[in-house]
Amino acid sequence: RIGEPDRIVVIGGGISGLSSAFYLQREAERLGKDIRLTIVDGASALGGKINTLQRDGFVIEKGPDSFLARKLAIIDLATELGLSDELTTTNPGAKKTYILHRKKLHPMPAGLVLGVPTEMKPFLKSGLVSWGGKLRALMDLALPARKVQGDESLGGFLERRVGSQIMTQIAEPLLAGIYAGDLRKLSIQATFPQFAASERKHGSLIRGMQHNRKAGAAALPAVAKGGTFLTFKGGLTTVVKALDKALSGADRKLGVKVAEIRDERRVAVKREGQSSEAGVQEKARYTVVLENGEQLPADRIVMTAPAHDAADLLEPLTDVSELRAIHYVSVANVVMAFDKATFGLDFDGSGFLVPRSEGLSITACTWTSSKWLHTSPGDKVLLRCYVGRAGDEEKAKLPDEELIAAVRHDIEVTMGIKAEPLFTEITRLYRSMPQYPVGHLDNVKRLRARLAQELPGVWVTGAAFDGVGLPDCVRQGKEAAKAILAEA
Ligand code: FAD
Repeated sequence: RIGEPDRIVVIGGGISGLSSAFYLQREAERLGKDIRLTIVDGASALGGKINTLQRDGFVIEKGPDSFLARKLAIIDLATELGLSDELTTTNPGAKKTYILHRKKLHPMPAGLVLGVPTEMKPFLKSGLVSWGGKLRALMDLALPARKVQGDESLGGFLERRVGSQIMTQIAEPLLAGIYAGDLRKLSIQATFPQFAASERKHGSLIRGMQHNRKAGAAALPAVAKGGTFLTFKGGLTTVVKALDKALSGADRKLGVKVAEIRDERRVAVKREGQSSEAGVQEKARYTVVLENGEQLPADRIVMTAPAHDAADLLEPLTDVSELRAIHYVSVANVVMAFDKATFGLDFDGSGFLVPRSEGLSITACTWTSSKWLHTSPGDKVLLRCYVGRAGDEEKAKLPDEELIAAVRHDIEVTMGIKAEPLFTEITRLYRSMPQYPVGHLDNVKRLRARLAQELPGVWVTGAAFDGVGLPDCVRQGKEAAKAILAEA
């Protein structure tokens, strides 16, 4: 279609879809290519999992609440969108995080990096792990590296290097915030490749993480040095709104799902038998059919829907077993607001994590008003409790009253909080946390190679593929834009 713009349909208006669209627009401008963008989302608003609620002076995140400062893609995006001044970091006075162990809150020892001890003194002093567990962890410094290359489970790796106590008492509850997963089923290469690289390069996980910690801190720009996490003062929807504005030239179809993707070349060949290519060349290669019957011609498609939705749409056209292999865990979160005067507790940190072995319904509790000062009026307290993880998802589906009762029970037994909340906000996120299985990276390569061959111009990206964190999704959006326009 010489002289005509390339019609690109982005399926999904979460951070991955919006970043893909933003960078497609940028990249097309840079390359002098003419494109016409349409963003489709089944939800009535853009943002996907990002969902900030402003209520009674509180800034409440119902989905993600912040992002890792050391992964720079989202900071770069914020800068490009003119949002640098909107960034804010965690309260420097609330650095401590606790872990529940035998019904008591223990401070996480200093120097723990993703659950791996990098400073020995505080680790050896901690009451979180027994002496046997500590000695087992230190064996990592002497154990030989695994000879076999290739993927393995994150849990298997951690048990092999630092033992099962570190795995179950510290690493799993810590990493549950990211994957809500069973570490024995998650791929190490797709989740924490730096762990495997530490063993390979330094012969020890602890030594490798000590080295990374020093090297990583030195390389960070100033904005990322202030704290581990960042967010926007007005909540994460700030970036969604800015992307929406920057994409004002793109069409959008909101509140209507994609029902089908048709490969017109196949249809044409089927209908016309020996039909010449010339007869169908003028048409777009694909038609994206919406559930209201509307048909969008598409030369290219960026698919950012969760793997199971993407699989439903692509299955009639190709093998989608790699997408079906990505399971999702359902979680819920319960936000509670209180009057400080009746709350009865002063926080000196950002919250606590709950290992499975403690037998509670909550997996973590963020002391939001203490961790993020911009989220609450000064005379109020805001808590956010997380429910549901792999193997324990039913609790996330409890009816409201039972869910609230379970959470209130847990905050009473852990912190002694009996105060009546001013209000409660429940968010259930069914099938929301993708679990990368062992072999995931090879699966993704195989899937993309098959798509390039069988469905050229269809690019799959987003949280299901190469990182679930917001910065990873932004990075992938940028990569998607490059990949798609390189094909054009
Ligand atoms: P989504 O946001 O899921 O967007 C996909 C979109 O596709 C959806 O809007 C959906 O409506 C749409 N869609 C699906 N099917 C169709 C269809 N057929 N037609 C049209 N549209 C369709 N990350 C962090 O970095 N920091 C955090 O603090 C953090 N906390 C989290 C807390 C929770 C509870 C959860 C669930 C995740 C958290 N994450 C966090 C991860 C991060 O929020 C997600 O990985 C990220 O937002 C996913 O973005 P996405 O665009 O890939 O997918």
